[in-house]
Amino acid sequence: MNTIIYELIVIGGGISSCTFVSNLLAKGFKGKIAIIETGRNLGGRCSSRISKKNSGWILNHGSPNFNIINNSNDLKLNNFLSELLEKNIIKKDNSLLIELDKNLNFSNNLTNEFCTGNIYSSTSFMGDLANQILNLNNKSKQVDLYFQELIINLAFQNNNWVLKSKEGSLFYSKFLVISSNLLLHKRSKKILNVDEIPLAKATKNNIKIDEIIHILKYQNYIERINFLIYTRKEYQLKEIIKKDNVIYYLDKNAQEKYGFERIVFQKQKNKRYGIVLHSIKENNLINELKKNNFEKDLLYRFNKLFEENPLINTLDNYEDISIMRWRASQPGGLRVPLRLQICKEYNIAFCGDWFNTQGFGRVEGAILSALNLSDQVIKII
Ligand SMILES: Cc1cc2nc3c(=O)[nH]c(=O)nc-3n(C[C@H](O)[C@H](O)[C@H](O)COP(=O)(O)OP(=O)(O)OC[C@H]3O[C@@H](n4cnc5c(N)ncnc54)[C@H](O)[C@@H]3O)c2cc1C
Repeated sequence: MNTIIYELIVIGGGISSCTFVSNLLAKGFKGKIAIIETGRNLGGRCSSRISKKNSGWILNHGSPNFNIINNSNDLKLNNFLSELLEKNIIKKDNSLLIELDKNLNFSNNLTNEFCTGNIYSSTSFMGDLANQILNLNNKSKQVDLYFQELIINLAFQNNNWVLKSKEGSLFYSKFLVISSNLLLHKRSKKILNVDEIPLAKATKNNIKIDEIIHILKYQNYIERINFLIYTRKEYQLKEIIKKDNVIYYLDKNAQEKYGFERIVFQKQKNKRYGIVLHSIKENNLINELKKNNFEKDLLYRFNKLFEENPLINTLDNYEDISIMRWRASQPGGLRVPLRLQICKEYNIAFCGDWFNTQGFGRVEGAILSALNLSDQVIKII
């Protein structure tokens, strides 16, 4: 049984959590910290599939890169990015980015929400970014990492938080940060199989927490399904190009016609190309695919899209295909104001892309909310 009482526990190990913890450590926080994550690794929605079956392949099955708009020229964000660039954790993304309309006309004038501003990617692979951000400041190994622990129950007892995971573990902490809104959102009841939203159950009549939970009633989610194609050895682009990746963004009309949202050709160390087909569930591709022979239909659609493309070869076959289902890939609807990030009465705080920042629903928002939070939390714990 784990009986350590941590100074701080963070639930979730995505970019916001790791940025928050890293920045807190950089500011001199000396206490013992735990990050508890239900997945097998850090990264969350910026994770990559390292396939055992297809050894040697690493495919970014969430966010393939990230864009920073920073219209308000936030100094904290600028400094943070400069440090990541300096330490060679991120680089300016050199992918070839192309937007397509429904007649498959090309445009280099990018309007997609994911490619305005400056675009960055991890220097290794996206799934390693959160880990690298954390390690930047975790020099004295203050952070314990727990994986495959899904927190389903929270209680605030004698000024300490007691967390219980579905797997049966108990964790204790003086201060709690929640980096995903699952434990505050009504979808938790179905996903975690609980009768009350866990944070609502743990806190009664708190004006701030009640307001967040109320706002979240009106926050919804985009569901995405991504198909990961492991191509055969002979599959290459029509031309040799000096770019890591090639990404096609389909505009709204093209998405409706072809079913895909974005197609990422990701060059592997072995010089082969992995192809990640992003699709938004409401575009109905998935329902259509269910009716048909899914793999054959998927190839048909892919080939229709690229049959006359000067760079991309059509696909007759592939080595393997796998699917990644993102139940909550990106928040939409109402945004939670930053003024609600901390609730001192309950020693609890929140971060993530679900807050109302410039980068709502994107990596930029996850980072901004985390930088903002660490600046405040260091003053009170
Ligand atoms: C397919 C896809 C494409 C995307 N494309 C882009 C893009 O091009 N550009 C861009 O900027 N953004 C993109 N995004 C969005 C971007 O990935 C997210 O905004 C960002 O990663 C959010 O980080 P976060 O730390 O706020 O949340 P998350 O990454 O979701 O981290 C939260 C973590 O908490 C864990 N967790 C949740 N509840 C519990 C619990 N009860 N117990 C234990 N662990 C828990 C989750 O497993 C998760 O790892 C994309 C997302 C997806 C899915």
